[in-house]
Amino acid sequence: MTLRELKAGQSCRVESVGGEGALRQHFLDMGIIPGAEITIVKFAPMGDPVEVRIHGYELSLRLDDAEKIAITELDKKAEAGTDEKRKDKSKVAHPNLGEPGIHHDKKHENPLPDDHVLSFALVGNQNSGKTTLFNRLTGSNQHVGNFPGVTVDRKDGAIIGHPNTVITDLPGIYSMSPYSKEEIVSRDFVLNNKPDAIINIVDSTNIERNLYLTMQLLETDRPVVVALNMMDELTGNGGSVDINLMEQILGVPVVPISAAKNQGIGELISHAIHIAKYCEKPLEQDFCAPESPVHSSIHAVEHLVEEKAKNTGLPLRFTACKALEGDELILNQLGLDENEKDLLEHIRVKVEKKSGLDPAAAVADMRFSYIMQLVESCVTKPVRNKERIRSERVDKVLTGKFTAIPIFILIMGLVFFLTFNVIGAGLQTLLEMGIGWLTETTEQALTNANVNDVIHSLIIDGIFEGVGSVLSFLPIVVVMFFFLSLLEDSGYIARIAFFMDKLLRKIGLSGRSIVPLLIGFGCTVPAVMSTRTLPSDRDRKMTIILTPFMSCTAKLPIYAFFVSSFFPGKGGLIMTGLYLLSIVIGILIAFIYKKILFKGEAAPFVMELPNYRLPSLRSTLQLMWEKAKDFLQKAFSVILIATVVVWFLQSFDTRFNLVTDSSTSMMALISGFIAPVMRPLGLGDWRITTSLISGFMAKESVVSVLEVLFGAEGGINAVLGTVEAATLLIFSLLYTPCVAAIASVKRELGWKWSAGLVIWQCVLAWIVSFLFRIIMLAFTGGLI
Ligand code: GDP
Ligand code: MG
Repeated sequence: MTLRELKAGQSCRVESVGGEGALRQHFLDMGIIPGAEITIVKFAPMGDPVEVRIHGYELSLRLDDAEKIAITELDKKAEAGTDEKRKDKSKVAHPNLGEPGIHHDKKHENPLPDDHVLSFALVGNQNSGKTTLFNRLTGSNQHVGNFPGVTVDRKDGAIIGHPNTVITDLPGIYSMSPYSKEEIVSRDFVLNNKPDAIINIVDSTNIERNLYLTMQLLETDRPVVVALNMMDELTGNGGSVDINLMEQILGVPVVPISAAKNQGIGELISHAIHIAKYCEKPLEQDFCAPESPVHSSIHAVEHLVEEKAKNTGLPLRFTACKALEGDELILNQLGLDENEKDLLEHIRVKVEKKSGLDPAAAVADMRFSYIMQLVESCVTKPVRNKERIRSERVDKVLTGKFTAIPIFILIMGLVFFLTFNVIGAGLQTLLEMGIGWLTETTEQALTNANVNDVIHSLIIDGIFEGVGSVLSFLPIVVVMFFFLSLLEDSGYIARIAFFMDKLLRKIGLSGRSIVPLLIGFGCTVPAVMSTRTLPSDRDRKMTIILTPFMSCTAKLPIYAFFVSSFFPGKGGLIMTGLYLLSIVIGILIAFIYKKILFKGEAAPFVMELPNYRLPSLRSTLQLMWEKAKDFLQKAFSVILIATVVVWFLQSFDTRFNLVTDSSTSMMALISGFIAPVMRPLGLGDWRITTSLISGFMAKESVVSVLEVLFGAEGGINAVLGTVEAATLLIFSLLYTPCVAAIASVKRELGWKWSAGLVIWQCVLAWIVSFLFRIIMLAFTGGLI
């Protein structure tokens, strides 16, 4: 029997875990190991994926993946929560939050020199409060960049009050087995950069799963301090942790904290600095029951790889475990010879024979059994978890069979309305007024100072106009991210991914991609920026190059202009048609991408569904500030250059004289060259081409340029028929994204992808428009 066959509310015990490679390892790392108990919580509104509870937390699994898990059904009704079992366990006294320095004996030998910059890695599961803690630890002295060679966010900062430190916020990971690009980044950082200490943040309300990572961090032989986060929630529900005992068992300092409430942070800092400065490595690494077959095998593998591990600089115990698990990356790095490989295989077979589990499952099992014992002895779980109960209640509505999608549409609609019509738009108007005022003042000053015409035009018509128009996106980007981060931190985005997965999977993506795609209907820039939260590299790439196909709001003025000039009274019809077309084309393109560019499956979708939590305002504001900075950097690099180029082409003729009549400019010349290409579409007029080229800067400017070049009302009607007008609408819907969007694509995927995207979209726009025109002309008899 497989997990797929169970109904909501039924429970089972895992017999064996199928699947292979990374997916299987991921199953194991998430706690799906033989012997574990699983309860089906519910199915997504569309029937797939399914939400299950395991080790006291919720996971979402695709049915196809659930099919790989063999189970035996347990004959009992779902428990109200696994917490119930531990009800009568007496409370263990533990030190108060934030009491300084009593949890760990400190050594004072061989400190690192005073001028050594202490480096820390902040490592933890997703949603364990890493970002919140990082912001607490660093205050505002942090900077955001990328890890070398990959576009994965990297945040560094100095700990408040300790300028000689640098702490790096690593992407959230569940284990040290690389599964996504982020996990590889995090693991490589710990293994290769060898931070002076690791700050391991552990969600105390979800302690089993979080400690699974801790076990592996201890094996890396770096000094570790465990920051036991969310203690406010645990104690608030009547739970407690015997910190002293836990420290003793783990052999590293454990500090209870609440990142959100700013409790215990000072103590965490002093412990972290101490272990780093005095290189206090974990006292324990051997976490297996002495008589278990895994135990002896790990030691056997340790002997086997000792020499090679030393040579490659890998920590021994960690390497041995990974070799036993069969981790390809580590095995390649080690470069075992044939003889050693044989020996390793021999050990692996022996484990399998003795334990009845394959080595990877046996190692996972060993870690989880150890954690169970540890939790049994030093954690009193709450009888009732208020947050869980609240989450379940909220989920009844937000992921309910009939309510999920309507509410989702409502929430997204509200976010859009507030961003594009109320707050964002209001701020945008203000900013535009500010820029307008600044432009005027500068223009006045330049005129007064009798500045050369060319420079005058460069500053006013080039830089101010161009950068100004792009800058006016800023409020929208920032406000959009404000809402997004609320949705993300509260836990709602994970739910969206949960119930949209089935739909998105049809086009080769996973549920999480729906959010960037939707934001794309607002503005491609924040949409592309928001793909950072997608866990898989393949999905992220595919989503990024799909977002520009979603018709953004900057194209609305174009639609409005043509509706009023050519199709008065048919606005609703035309708009609906255009949006539908953009969705249909988007889906078709996704199919093509899936077949050609991104073969293979969307990322396996084994995702945690965290409890709903109140987002912290501080983290939200910090994120807005980061995104704003990111956007400004772009505005003043790529966009500035593009602006100046377009200005140059528009303002000069081929002899580099400043033009007075735009029809003699280089732009007009270039448009003249391009115009024949556009002739089959019925858009051969150079003025149309010019407007489309300037649409490259910002889509709104298509309309303003058309207005300037064709003069007042009616001018354009003389040049275009209704079929051509409709063709132009389709062309504008699909052709190249604006500079700001391209700059964000470039930032994520590099020049090649963004240039490719521009060319591809222009070609596609041409083809679709051409087909449309032919069909329309055939229908209206215009061809004959
Ligand atoms: P990350 O995914 O690990 O970066 O986690 P975040 O820092 O984004 O936090 C996830 C959620 O947990 C947010 O809604 C936070 O406000 C919340 N949170 C973080 N730390 C605490 C804490 O100590 N107590 C409580 N109750 N909530 C917290
Ligand atoms: Mg975070």
